[in-house]
Amino acid sequence: MKALAFYAKRDLRYEDVPDPVIEKDDDVIVKVKTVGICGSDIARYRNLGPYVPGNVWGHEFAGEVASVGAGVTSLKPGDRVVGCPNMVCHECAACRSGHPSRCEKLNTIGAYVPGAFAEYIKLPAKNLIRMVDGMSYEEGALTEPATVAIHGLYQSNIQMGHSVAVVGCGNIGLMCIAWSKAFGAKTVYALDLDDAQLELARKFGADVTINTADVDFHDEIRKHCDGVDLAIESAGNAFTAARVLGLPRKGGQVIYMGIPYADVPVPRFYFEKIMRNELNIVGSWCTISAPYPGKEWENAVDYIGHHKVKVTDMITHQVKLSEGPAIFEAIMENPRNFGKVLLYPELDRQ
Ligand SMILES: [Zn+2]
Ligand SMILES: [Zn+2]
Repeated sequence: MKALAFYAKRDLRYEDVPDPVIEKDDDVIVKVKTVGICGSDIARYRNLGPYVPGNVWGHEFAGEVASVGAGVTSLKPGDRVVGCPNMVCHECAACRSGHPSRCEKLNTIGAYVPGAFAEYIKLPAKNLIRMVDGMSYEEGALTEPATVAIHGLYQSNIQMGHSVAVVGCGNIGLMCIAWSKAFGAKTVYALDLDDAQLELARKFGADVTINTADVDFHDEIRKHCDGVDLAIESAGNAFTAARVLGLPRKGGQVIYMGIPYADVPVPRFYFEKIMRNELNIVGSWCTISAPYPGKEWENAVDYIGHHKVKVTDMITHQVKLSEGPAIFEAIMENPRNFGKVLLYPELDRQ
């Protein structure tokens, strides 16, 4: 089959790789209908993160079950599914205590095991969630980034009526805005440097947008309120990772979701907010909870599939899988021109 395999920094190749075959009783092979490019893929393409040379990439996908192992009773060929890319051991202390996202052996498809930038992918049956009727494959592919935001919000103590500030309106930030509303936020503030992205943030439910060029985060939010109940860092940037500490009210919360891929120097003014304002600082990692893969997946499929939360406005490009290498290079040149990019393996067969 054809797939996109990653060899080295800025070296992604569309090439022939072996077809996956059923080996274990719980194996399921899925025909990939569409697969999204993630911000973490772009970071790894540019900087090199963990990877195995020649491994197939991609972890945000939806598809149709092609074949199942002898022990699979929950799925059958033809079923439409989304895939949870996070694999855990189910045996370590974290897994046994109901926190699979903290698994000692956490693994994600695309990093060490073959991913979904391919015509077919193989996963254990428990990693696949059936799509609801009326849910498109595009919505299916956006389920994984939605679960990143939902998992983060489940780490918070968000309640109906709360105010939330989302720093960084990339795809994960947009998800955080939409899902904060679903969790009951009354007012969502969206912060970004890019006016076009802030415009999009409004479509995802932001009530107030703040362009952060030349503004002090702490003072600017206090033109609107006494600080927010919850501030979410979804920019993955060293500068905002420090400034986000200026956004919550006294006793408020900060959730770190973005990965800065850099040291984070924190000015004293912002660091002292942790003590002086008795902030509650929380980290969030991946998408899963117990019972695996968790309520993140169940709710993402339900809310997106039944259009209670609309997420497809972030899609800017829909291209053939073979165009993957060129589009990664184009993203390097002009990242702001790209929202969510979806790749379609079947388009290369037409
Ligand atoms: Zn991702
Ligand atoms: Zn584990």
